[in-house]
Amino acid sequence: MTPEIKTINFGGINCYLVKTDTGYILIDTGFPAKRTDLGKELESAGCKPGNLKLVVITHGDHDHAGNCAYLQGKYGARIAMHADDLGMVERGDMGWNRKAKPDKMSIIFRIMGLIAPLFKPGKFETFKPDLTIGEGYALSPYGFDAQVLHLPGHSKGSIGILTTGGELFCGDLIYNFWGKPGCLYINDLADFYASVEKLKKLDIKTVYPGHGKPFPMEQFIKNNR
Ligand SMILES: [Zn+2]
Repeated sequence: MTPEIKTINFGGINCYLVKTDTGYILIDTGFPAKRTDLGKELESAGCKPGNLKLVVITHGDHDHAGNCAYLQGKYGARIAMHADDLGMVERGDMGWNRKAKPDKMSIIFRIMGLIAPLFKPGKFETFKPDLTIGEGYALSPYGFDAQVLHLPGHSKGSIGILTTGGELFCGDLIYNFWGKPGCLYINDLADFYASVEKLKKLDIKTVYPGHGKPFPMEQFIKNNR
């Protein structure tokens, strides 16, 4: 069975719910302030406590990890992430394992950072993930023909999920605002370019970003030769 993928969009922040033969997998979780909406979206898709088998977060930032503690508690879901972002979620410190000053921060990102508190994202609820995952981790035991790619750049522990059909969930390695895929916040440029080069060698058709609409990988490659 080809898994069904549902995009849950919270004002530019995406979570992806994957329905498999054995239950559900959620990729990223949004801010705590969107908890009620998240619950409704899960429920309408048939996802409830007991059948949410796994939550994978693409990295430790608040807008992706914000509902992990809640989902662990209420849904009994196991949370998976890369070890290189652990301190971010265990301490609620998004600067953990990052440079004091990122190599690149776009003006848009700066503005977003300034206005973000106006939207009251909610307090970071720290948690310990149930498992740490990295390059090559297979999601097939959860009924999802996909594997994990380690894609540092935005953070050290950023990961992507690539399906056998060529769909990539890229987290914040690439944003897609205003139809122009690119990265707004790069912690480490060398890591970022290495991750992009790695992606160019893979058979990727569509990219599902953490922010913005899906886009063809071809489009990103054309713009970043
Ligand atoms: Zn993000």
